[in-house]
Amino acid sequence: MIYLDNNSTTPLHPKVKEIIKDTLDYYFNPSSVYTDGRVVREKINDVRKEIAAFLNCKPNEIIFTSCGSESNNTILKGVVNHYLKDGSKNKLHIITSSIEHPSVINTLKYIESESIEVTYLNVDKNGMINIEELRKSIKKETILISIMFANNEIGTIEPIEDISKIALENNILFHTDAVQAIGKVDIDLQKIKVDYLSLSGHKIYAPKGVGVIFKREGSIPICPLINGGHQENGERAGTENIIGIIALGEAFRMLKLEMKEEIEKVRELRDLLENEIIKNIPDVKINGHPTMRLAGTLNVSFKKIEGESILLKLDLNGIAVSTGSACSSGSLDPSPVIMALGVPPEIAHSSIRFSLGRENTEEEILKTVEILKESVEFLRAISPIK
Ligand code: PLP
Repeated sequence: MIYLDNNSTTPLHPKVKEIIKDTLDYYFNPSSVYTDGRVVREKINDVRKEIAAFLNCKPNEIIFTSCGSESNNTILKGVVNHYLKDGSKNKLHIITSSIEHPSVINTLKYIESESIEVTYLNVDKNGMINIEELRKSIKKETILISIMFANNEIGTIEPIEDISKIALENNILFHTDAVQAIGKVDIDLQKIKVDYLSLSGHKIYAPKGVGVIFKREGSIPICPLINGGHQENGERAGTENIIGIIALGEAFRMLKLEMKEEIEKVRELRDLLENEIIKNIPDVKINGHPTMRLAGTLNVSFKKIEGESILLKLDLNGIAVSTGSACSSGSLDPSPVIMALGVPPEIAHSSIRFSLGRENTEEEILKTVEILKESVEFLRAISPIK
């Protein structure tokens, strides 16, 4: 199999696999006061320190969750609930972008009401938000800006540092969904003044079932999404996913050692894929920013054919990629992210996302282009759209 769907999820890092095997017997409850419970608690706190060192923040600013979606939900609903409870404002306003992950967009749509207004900023043809438009959309009721660090479908990296300055100047909280950016872009939380940030383990070679919230010390408290015990300082109840958390710590330890080299390797392979596609297949359109783009992401529209047909053809040949459309949920609507770039629906429908990771090789890329060329030629020959 040639796996080119790393933005969807990643295989476990071999070192992460090893540590999971060594951790299987740590069944003790970290809230237990006897020695073994305390040992497990210590291991969780070591991971907190590992992640804090990676992000250049404090260990007590790290909260473990079950996934990136939970982190996003907790932050967005938690900030809103804080203001609703404290009653200091009768109208709340949140600013986000039109290309956020569904765990942000759908959470905001869920909480949107007469008293909670949400502005969805447009993006330009490369998927970048407009800083001036952001400035203009600020109101006296604005409590929160939530803009993703990097987009999952097209890889565009948003101007997070500039946004954080605007948020700070206007005394507005700033959240960034960094699920796709982590491990692919340097993130130094002393330089980037975000209040909240979301992460997910399974995008960085750790297992599914573990995520992280960074919550800056001194930022307003967020009401927990999950109430219960005192775990995670009362901010996220539930007995901790010990194996997942320890595995996540190992994934971060490996990122620290390998990230730079990996980004370069993945960028070279992505550029090779992009150049070979452009050279060998006519009528293609690259979606996403030409330079401010995640190193491993390539989104291409193959005009006159549907992305799903290409995906299935590649799948028959053992190549895993994805389309941005919601076909898996039973709808054949084109990807809202590609549509937000101002691309016509028929071109948005023809998009494929290739997302590369640490295990890909040059041979795999060249094989993919060969199969892709044959598949596109075949599908265009039988396509009713000429
Ligand atoms: N945010 C972004 C940008 C993502 O790409 C994803 C997953 O694809 C998520 C959030 C959700 O993460 P999880 O799958 O851990 O819930």
